[in-house]
Amino acid sequence: MDTTPNPPTNEPARPSGPSPVATVSRSTSGDLPDERPTALSATALRCRYGAFEAVRGIDLTVRRGETFALLGTNGAGKTTTLETLEGHRAPDGGDVEVLGLDPHAERRTLAARIGLMLQTSGLPGDLTPREVLELWRRLTPEASDHLDATDALTRVELDHRAEVRIRQLSGGERRRLDLALALVNDPELIFLDEPTTGMDPQARERTWQILRDLRVEGVTILLTTHYLEEAEALADRLAIMHAGALATTGTLTEVIASQPATITARLSADAPELPDLDGDIRWAGDHRLAITTRRLQQDLTGLLVWARTHGQRLDELQATDASLTQVFHDIAGAPLATAPGDGTRREHR
Ligand code: ATP
Repeated sequence: MDTTPNPPTNEPARPSGPSPVATVSRSTSGDLPDERPTALSATALRCRYGAFEAVRGIDLTVRRGETFALLGTNGAGKTTTLETLEGHRAPDGGDVEVLGLDPHAERRTLAARIGLMLQTSGLPGDLTPREVLELWRRLTPEASDHLDATDALTRVELDHRAEVRIRQLSGGERRRLDLALALVNDPELIFLDEPTTGMDPQARERTWQILRDLRVEGVTILLTTHYLEEAEALADRLAIMHAGALATTGTLTEVIASQPATITARLSADAPELPDLDGDIRWAGDHRLAITTRRLQQDLTGLLVWARTHGQRLDELQATDASLTQVFHDIAGAPLATAPGDGTRREHR
């Protein structure tokens, strides 16, 4: 698989230049040509816990050097998917391949080439970061090029805490130690399960910078996160998972293109009839107007021209492009259009 085809719209793609309204901080379309080799793939992947099917036939491809974010509702199946790609569990259906290997059957070979940051690491509190890193390096002797413990700690800005007992580290420092462990074998690919959970905004921003630097070095990153802004800040492409299926996949621009923009304003009580607009017009109390539209620029222009022509004020005027939050809520709040278990993607309205 690759990107989900965009649902048809009746408007040409929005230009990438400045627009009157912008909620997308970074457009990643086209950053990664499709010719890049595949780092990992899942095809029709299914995972079960007893009779319960947690992952329902997903297709996923991450290319070399790409940062890919897997978002989703609680219990969507993100960790189960990651665990399967990491080789910790065998698929119950479908195929997975990571760096050209079967991650379960060839787990030991793969372990030397990948880094893992689990959701909870459970490191022994009596050891120090340096001791844990030294131990970890001894456990992966096949790794081609080890960072030493000091280098790994410096990389995550934790070198000054090298000799402190782990139980004395803050939650954010422990997460950075987990990241150092993922990096110590100089991996080609890292799996990060909620890497910045528990970090304050400053620590999160510093961690993002470390991940951006790794991307520049060509490291492939697959991360799960509940922070939409994390996916917006880091990911070349992302997917949103819901109830065991991938609801949408693509670049940020592609994913939010499925949603309409919104114009809101408050009009005077004696406002004349509105012009003919492309979007859907709704009225709330107090003469409040909300227009949902796939032609933001055209409808906003139409409204402004109407207001000038009729000498009307548009109080509290706001024009908001679609956002990842909107897409997420749309997916999380709606039942899947497909029958449970068939794993097919759901079409956006
Ligand atoms: P979260 O965002 O809450 O961490 P997730 O998307 O990572 O969730 P998973 O942890 O993969 O989701 O879980 C997917 C589903 O499988 C959930 O319904 C969960 O309750 C169930 N599940 C996970 N582990 C087990 C297990 N060991 N036994 C039975 N069910 C499990």
